[in-house]
Amino acid sequence: MDFQYWAVQIEKMPRSELETLQLQKLKAQVDLALRTPFYKERLTKIGIKSKDDIKTLDDLNRIPFTSKNDLRDGFPYGFLAIPKEEVVRLHASSGTTGTPTTIYFSRDDIKRWADYMARCIYSTGCDKNDVFQNMITYGLFTGGLGFHQGGEEVGMLVIPAGAGNTARQFKMMQDYGTTVLHATPSFLLHLETKMREAGVSRESLSIKRAFAGAEPYSEDTRLRIEALLKVDVYNSYGLSEMNGPGVAFECQCKDGLHIWEDGYIAEIVDPNTLQPVKEGEIGELVLTILCREATPLLRYRTRDLTSFYTEPCKCGRTHRRLHRITGRSDDMLIINGVNVFPSQIEEVIMGMKEVGNNYLIIVEKDGALDKLTVKTEVISDIFMDDTRPLNALKEKIKETLQASISISPKVELHESGSLPISEGKAVRVQDKRPKDV
Ligand code: ADP
Ligand code: ZN
Repeated sequence: MDFQYWAVQIEKMPRSELETLQLQKLKAQVDLALRTPFYKERLTKIGIKSKDDIKTLDDLNRIPFTSKNDLRDGFPYGFLAIPKEEVVRLHASSGTTGTPTTIYFSRDDIKRWADYMARCIYSTGCDKNDVFQNMITYGLFTGGLGFHQGGEEVGMLVIPAGAGNTARQFKMMQDYGTTVLHATPSFLLHLETKMREAGVSRESLSIKRAFAGAEPYSEDTRLRIEALLKVDVYNSYGLSEMNGPGVAFECQCKDGLHIWEDGYIAEIVDPNTLQPVKEGEIGELVLTILCREATPLLRYRTRDLTSFYTEPCKCGRTHRRLHRITGRSDDMLIINGVNVFPSQIEEVIMGMKEVGNNYLIIVEKDGALDKLTVKTEVISDIFMDDTRPLNALKEKIKETLQASISISPKVELHESGSLPISEGKAVRVQDKRPKDV
């Protein structure tokens, strides 16, 4: 394979040099952090009064974690490290798990972010000859403008399509000869359903690649999108607290996401004990941003669950790889005492060829017990009035889920394209149980 690198010296930098660079940047971040009301209090309390108190990367361990709640408490300007007149933009998280958090950018922050995004996009084999249709929400959400700037930086022709409206999306793809897409994996699947419904032929499109991110998805879902849309799908990971997209991205090997370690220090900890997990084990990703001056964040608990690859990648990049994020630690459902991650359910159902492109997980109370219902669409080749294959599929889903998560759910099958789809991140879980007060 012919690999291409946007910033070859940094992407292939020997690890020892990379760590020296991290230390130098960490010191600068600590200096900036000391200018924010939040960290000034926190860091001085533990005896860190200037960057000179950080001597090695291990000194990072002395710094307490920062949580999403800290950011909420510090709203609106408690984490601002530069004068407000130097700030040129703000973004906010999607608010998937509560009040959104706000992040500020200086002009240089925006430039650096665009550069990291360009690095990601270029590492998948794209270049200035590509036409890039960015089918994700613009606005406060970082996915829109983040990819937009990165695409322009690479020199691609960027179409700021925004999310939704599949008919318009197909028209743009045909009119402009789009070669690259960016969307959530759920929207890419939805797009394929709509493509069939509208009779749009794949041959009328020039798409080759798609970036899919902003929500968890399984390897089976990637393979499904690749087979249906006939594109190469690359996983994109980021979060608004760490700028947005551009934190970790798959290269052409499509085997794990390189986390840009000159921009982020990554740790993986046990979410209960907060101690580092053993090499290669799953835990919560904790990130320290090294590439933003307006809003420094030290040891930010992402709540995202992942693990490091222990082997280097074939592409020659020295930056470590993360396994695909399986979900957030707070996504875990406890169903009749059994711990279940929605991603475990997705893995089972998306691997079945009879299952369509969308599904929903519902948990409710049935007397004293919890009841799990899995609603999935079926592929359009199965007729909804033909009960035999439908019953067989229901049984198959039930048995496979019983084997993998030890729960036998109620299974409901729905016609292709009939389950609700959201414009932003997919909302796949409805937990209707009363909340404990
Ligand atoms: P919110 O936390 O409110 O959803 P963001 O828009 O900042 O706000 O979303 C970031 C979160 O989205 C990440 O912390 C992660 O949980 C999820 N996410 C983003 N990209 C991926 C991906 N490729 N795989 C799995 N989850 C992802
Ligand atoms: Zn690689």
